Amino acid sequence: MREGSLDAPVRHPLDWQNPDFYDAEKIDAELRRVFDICHGCRRCFNLCDSFPRLFDLIDDSDSGELDSVSSEGFKPVVDACTLCDMCFMTKCPYVPPHEFNLDFPHLMLRYRAAEARAGKISFVDRQLTETDRNGKLAGAVAPLANWATGTGNRLTRPLLEKVADIHRDAHLPEFHGKTFKARAEAQAIEVDRTAPAAGRKAVLYATCFANYNSPSIGEAARQVLARNGVETVVEYPGCCGMPQLEHGELDRVAESARTVAAALERYIDEGYDIVALVPSCALMLKFEWPLILPDDPLVAKLAKASFDITEFVVDIAKRQGLADGLKPLDGGVALHFACHARAQNMGPKAQEMLKLIPETEVTLVERCSGHGGSWGIKKENFEVALKIGKPAARNIAKATKAHVASECPLAGAHLVQALERLGDDVKAPAAASHPIELLARAYGY
Ligand code: SF4
Ligand code: SF4
Repeated sequence: MREGSLDAPVRHPLDWQNPDFYDAEKIDAELRRVFDICHGCRRCFNLCDSFPRLFDLIDDSDSGELDSVSSEGFKPVVDACTLCDMCFMTKCPYVPPHEFNLDFPHLMLRYRAAEARAGKISFVDRQLTETDRNGKLAGAVAPLANWATGTGNRLTRPLLEKVADIHRDAHLPEFHGKTFKARAEAQAIEVDRTAPAAGRKAVLYATCFANYNSPSIGEAARQVLARNGVETVVEYPGCCGMPQLEHGELDRVAESARTVAAALERYIDEGYDIVALVPSCALMLKFEWPLILPDDPLVAKLAKASFDITEFVVDIAKRQGLADGLKPLDGGVALHFACHARAQNMGPKAQEMLKLIPETEVTLVERCSGHGGSWGIKKENFEVALKIGKPAARNIAKATKAHVASECPLAGAHLVQALERLGDDVKAPAAASHPIELLARAYGY
């Protein structure tokens, strides 16, 4: 629930096909309107780096008000927004249906969309967000790619920092020679037809991350669902476009939405649910795509059929009951509530899911990890991202659990780095898990 409001937040479609959306004067007027409301409110002062930058800008100006702030100063405020949606979802009492009609993250997105249209996305940023191309190229030479991008590599990482602006200490995801989809196609899985949910069918939308970087998330989901009688197919028609959304390339996101929605339609007609393995991607399918293409019937149909993986397991538990066989996870779990899981407005489903494991204590950590997709690995942002993630890391350390988990794999890895920086008396785990991996483990996989 949001502070100061009982109404559920409503999001308006993005008017990105209207030329006014990109009009510099109109954007500036809207920024000033919204920033002035935020200046009088300041609830979000500690959520991220955007708001402190905004408030410092205003406080350090001649009049101490927005009227004496030059618009050039707005760009760093926009640049610091990771589109985590936390201000919109948890703090702001002025989001629609309130008459102030304030949607801070989507205004930041509009600014970036205008920058993207003006050709202001850097060459490096463009390369970093090509997740499908990068996944295929790096996957073909996975051992070499992983050696070169390894955090401890003092030969390659300074070079990568120089040419690609990626901080030398930022954790980068691993690549695998065989994608999740290829693995699933190569290995049939036995579905327990006697389980309570037998008869349900799901498409696992692999997501670029599970497909190229973390097939174990997908494999865990397949195992858990098979054990529960759910027949699965793995599909990956392409990336959801979240990396392009971060840079305001809304036409490319729309293209991704059309491609994926067309490819998955036949499954929906055959009674399959669509299950996304990473919350940012589920958020795209369920919410962002319908706001970008509000009149597209296939996108609407897909949104209605889509689940986040943890939401899907909880749905099975509620409707049919989970299959027996879950064993306690010794030492319990400190679970980070990923911002894009929260932004789906479904409650903490990963927590609900892990609480189904007997005798396993789950501590929910609600603060933002600070990672923000490709934002947090950049040279100029990495230290800020660790600072933002510090309160979450502290809460994880305080929970003293054996397992650390986050539905967002990037957030999980970032929090491990934040834990490592807390000092010698804090023992950081080697890696964070996705909650579905922990559930699979509790089933004995
Ligand atoms: S969306 Fe997240 S990062 Fe952006 S302004 Fe809101 S809280 Fe800050
Ligand atoms: S986004 Fe809303 S809650 Fe946050 S500072 Fe602005 S007006 Fe206040």
